[in-house]
Amino acid sequence: MKLSLLGATGSIGTQTLEVVRGLNENGAFPVSIEALAARSNAGLLERQAREFKPKAVALFEEAAAKDFRERTRDLDITVLTGMEGLCEAAAWGTADTTLNSVVGMVGLQPTLAAINAKKKLALANKETLVAGGALVMEAARQNGLDILPVDSEHSAIFQCLQGSPGGRAVKRLILTASGGPFFGWEAEQLKSVMPEQALRHPNWDMGAKITIDCATMMNKGLEVMEAAWLFGMPVERIGVVVHRESIVHSMVEYADNAVIAQMGTPDMRLPIQYALTYPERLESPSGTLDLAALGKLTFFEPDRENFRCLDVCIDAMKRGGLAPAAANGANEAAVQLFLEKRIGFMDIPRLVEGAAQRQPAVVPASVEEVLQADRAAREWVWAQAGKN
Ligand code: NDP
Ligand code: MG
Repeated sequence: MKLSLLGATGSIGTQTLEVVRGLNENGAFPVSIEALAARSNAGLLERQAREFKPKAVALFEEAAAKDFRERTRDLDITVLTGMEGLCEAAAWGTADTTLNSVVGMVGLQPTLAAINAKKKLALANKETLVAGGALVMEAARQNGLDILPVDSEHSAIFQCLQGSPGGRAVKRLILTASGGPFFGWEAEQLKSVMPEQALRHPNWDMGAKITIDCATMMNKGLEVMEAAWLFGMPVERIGVVVHRESIVHSMVEYADNAVIAQMGTPDMRLPIQYALTYPERLESPSGTLDLAALGKLTFFEPDRENFRCLDVCIDAMKRGGLAPAAANGANEAAVQLFLEKRIGFMDIPRLVEGAAQRQPAVVPASVEEVLQADRAAREWVWAQAGKN
């Protein structure tokens, strides 16, 4: 496999490179790294470039690209920058596969660039599907490409669907949610949550944005929308159940009420590797599952009252059109403001809901329309925060 990796310096990106290292050591599935991309972390990208010897790197920020070029004068490597550079890396000529693990809506254009260049696409960047699902799925259909999910829940569903061609006889998808660090908390307690508390996830070690999304349950709302697009399933047929141990990664319920679940230790290297080696399964660095040592697995209804984001996302998806893009854009802005301590934890669902409701549910005909809805939602959130 010849891989272009976007978001190489992040949580998913660095774990992808670990997986690649393992696959190459094992020898059964050699992977060469053709291109790497990040936003600004030139130092780490340099170490990665020296180890994996890509033909190109992209650093979104121009100053970082310049810094990288200075550091690597001894390497024969193309250095790209800006959105154009990111898209060029996504569609890099010698790559056959692109794994997109940048965080946020900024991943939409590179996703489309990879699809239009007919690359096999492994997708971690869920915001891409939430905001631009209609465009992304249509581009994939036109180019005859499948999208391989990296997100653990979607990888689980994808695995549970193997042996069911075309997803026939599927009744429901059931996503599991860890419930995050504040499971069981009441609104009064949630009001005073600080970023340091929200950044502590019980089961997964992830980037800051998705960790906050897990604490608000926005992540599960985004994942319901992501699943709706990936598997062509109406949100009415996507259930959510809280499962504190993060062992059952998601499930598929069939017409005969049989439920197929995928289980494993909470370790992203497993879904990352499956997206790369599909349909093959190879040895993985993730630990073996010892069910007897765990003793029991627990399941609960999600708390939809105190964690509003889940239903806000489902409502946005039901309204359709650009409402999900607005919800996503508002959330990205609100999470940033929360991390900067300029708004409170409970302002996040309020602002996401307000922005989604303000957005007319017109179906986007172009990327520009998605970007515009995203920008309008962010601006509205910033204006609201300024009034606080
Ligand atoms: P991180 O914050 O750890 O990493 C984000 C990566 O994206 C970094 O490499 C960052 O570069 C890069 N990036 C950010 N902005 C840009 C930009 N404008 N141009 C180019 N690169 C950019 O995030 P995660 O790895 O946690 O998450 C990545 C995506 O995967 C998200 O969409 C998330 O929802 C999804 N996901 C993550 C999971 C996890 O376990 N972490 C699980 C399931 C899904 P730099 O370092 O230079 O800033
Ligand atoms: Mg997930």
